[in-house]
Amino acid sequence: MGSTQAETERSWIELNIKNLQHNVKVLTQAMPPACELMAVVKAQAYGHGACKISTMLNKIGIKAFAAATVEEGIQLRKSGIRGEILILGYTDTKRASDLQKFDLIQTLIDFEYAKALNSQNLAVKVHMKIDTGMHRLGFPCTEVLAVKRAFEMKNLKICGIYTHLCCADSLQADDIAFTRKQIDRFYHLLDALKDGEIDIPKVHIQSSYGLLNYPDLTCNYIRVGIALYGVLSSPNDDTNLKLDLRPVLSLKSRVVLIRKVKKGESVGYGRESTVKRDSRIAIIPIGYGDGFPRNLYNGNGRVLVNSHIVPIVGRICMDQLSIDITDVEGVSTGDIVTLIGAEEYDDLSASSVAYSLGTISNELLCRMGARLPVIIKSDALEVNSL
Ligand SMILES: *Cc1c(COP(=O)(O)O)cnc(C)c1O
Repeated sequence: MGSTQAETERSWIELNIKNLQHNVKVLTQAMPPACELMAVVKAQAYGHGACKISTMLNKIGIKAFAAATVEEGIQLRKSGIRGEILILGYTDTKRASDLQKFDLIQTLIDFEYAKALNSQNLAVKVHMKIDTGMHRLGFPCTEVLAVKRAFEMKNLKICGIYTHLCCADSLQADDIAFTRKQIDRFYHLLDALKDGEIDIPKVHIQSSYGLLNYPDLTCNYIRVGIALYGVLSSPNDDTNLKLDLRPVLSLKSRVVLIRKVKKGESVGYGRESTVKRDSRIAIIPIGYGDGFPRNLYNGNGRVLVNSHIVPIVGRICMDQLSIDITDVEGVSTGDIVTLIGAEEYDDLSASSVAYSLGTISNELLCRMGARLPVIIKSDALEVNSL
C-alpha cells in the first residue's frame, strides 16, 4: 500500500478506504439480516479501480461481486479476488470455457441464450435474469414455461434468479406503483416455479436505490454499486432510507506553473476567457484525456486549492486546464488541487459536479478509469473492524 512519488507527481485518484469500509458497514446494517451485499465493480468499480476496490472488499469480508463483462470478471480473478463473480451483461456463449475456467457466473439473458449456452456442453454457473418491465435483458416474466425449461437444462447450474428495477430511484407515486408492479411480477413468477416443484435459487432484486427506497424486501443479495462508493447519483435525490454514506474517491492534481496574465488577455484555446483584471493563473496537468469533462469551464467548473474554491478558466484541454488563483495567497507550484470529492465542500462532490454537467455521478466517475493512477490513502484500512 501507500503510493510512490511518481504516482502523485501529476494527477491521480485517491481512495479513502476508511470511507469504503464505513459504507459497507452502513449498507450492510440497512439490509435484512440474511441478505448479502454484492459489490458491483463494473467499469473499473465506477472509475475507482476494480482490482484495488475488490481486494479491499475481499479483506473486509465481501464475498460476492458483479462485473459487466467476462473480461472484467477474468481481471478480477487474475488479481486474486475470491468469492462469487456474477457477469451482469451478455457474454458470447463460445466463452463458456472461460466462464468455467475462471469460475464466473453468467447471466442468462433469455431462453435462446440459455439454449445456446447449454449446448456448449460445459457445466457453467448461471443466474437467470427476469424482465419485469425494464425491457433490457431477461426472460419475460410471463413466459413461465420457458423459464421452467431452462431449469431443466443439464449444463446450466442455476444458482440465482434476479430482476432489475428501472425507476427505484424515484419517489413519485406512479414510479412507486410501477416498481411495486415489477416486484409483484417477479414474486408471482417465483410462485409459479415453486408450484412446478422447482427449488428457488438465490434471489435478488435491488441495486443501490432499490435498497434506499425499498429496504424491506427480503432477498439473498442486494447489488450495490454507486452507494458503495459513497455518493448518490444526483445531489438532491430524496430516499426513504437516509444513510450516512461517505465518498471514497477524490480526484487530485498539482499546480505545475503559475503565470501572470494582464487584464484584457485571454487564456487557452479559442481565446474564450478574457481576464477582467491582472490575474494569476495556475496550470494544472489534468484534462479530458484523464476523464475530466471538457465542458466544466466558464463558470461551470471549480477546484479547491489552499482551502479556497477557485474557478477553472479557459477551455479544458486534453491534458491540462487553467485556474484563476488571483484571490488566493500563497499558492506555489507543487501544491495539491482537489477537483472532485473534497469532503468539506459539497459543491465538489461527484454528484454536484455531475449535476452541473447535466449527468449523474455514475457517468462522471466511470469516465476516469483510464489514464489516472489510483492510490490508496495509507494508514486507512482497519482489517477486522467490520
Ligand atoms: C449497474 C448495475 C447495478 C448497480 O447499480 P447502482 O445503481 O450503481 O447500485 C445493479 N444491477 C444491475 C443489473 C446493474 O447493471
